[in-house]
Amino acid sequence: MDALKPCPCCGSITQLRVISISSLLEEDETPSAIFDYYDRRFTVICSYTASGVDGCGVSGPESNSEENAALYWNNRESDHSSTRYRISDGR
Ligand SMILES: [Zn+2]
Repeated sequence: MDALKPCPCCGSITQLRVISISSLLEEDETPSAIFDYYDRRFTVICSYTASGVDGCGVSGPESNSEENAALYWNNRESDHSSTRYRISDGR
């Protein structure tokens, strides 16, 4: 699998994870047909945890394999990392 590009929202590279989408669901509270479906669907997520210093929680396109999830993540057309904001000092 190719290396993942940094998150376009927060720039994190260390928090990126390729996951099964079912891991985002509560198995107990999800109908089994839906859980099974998402168990075979994958995405890249910029892992977010409550401790704060991690990723931003954004996720990439849904895919049918881990390899394709990574591919879609790296090939997204809208890459906000090309946007640069300048902080003015007001003078
Ligand atoms: Zn992020």
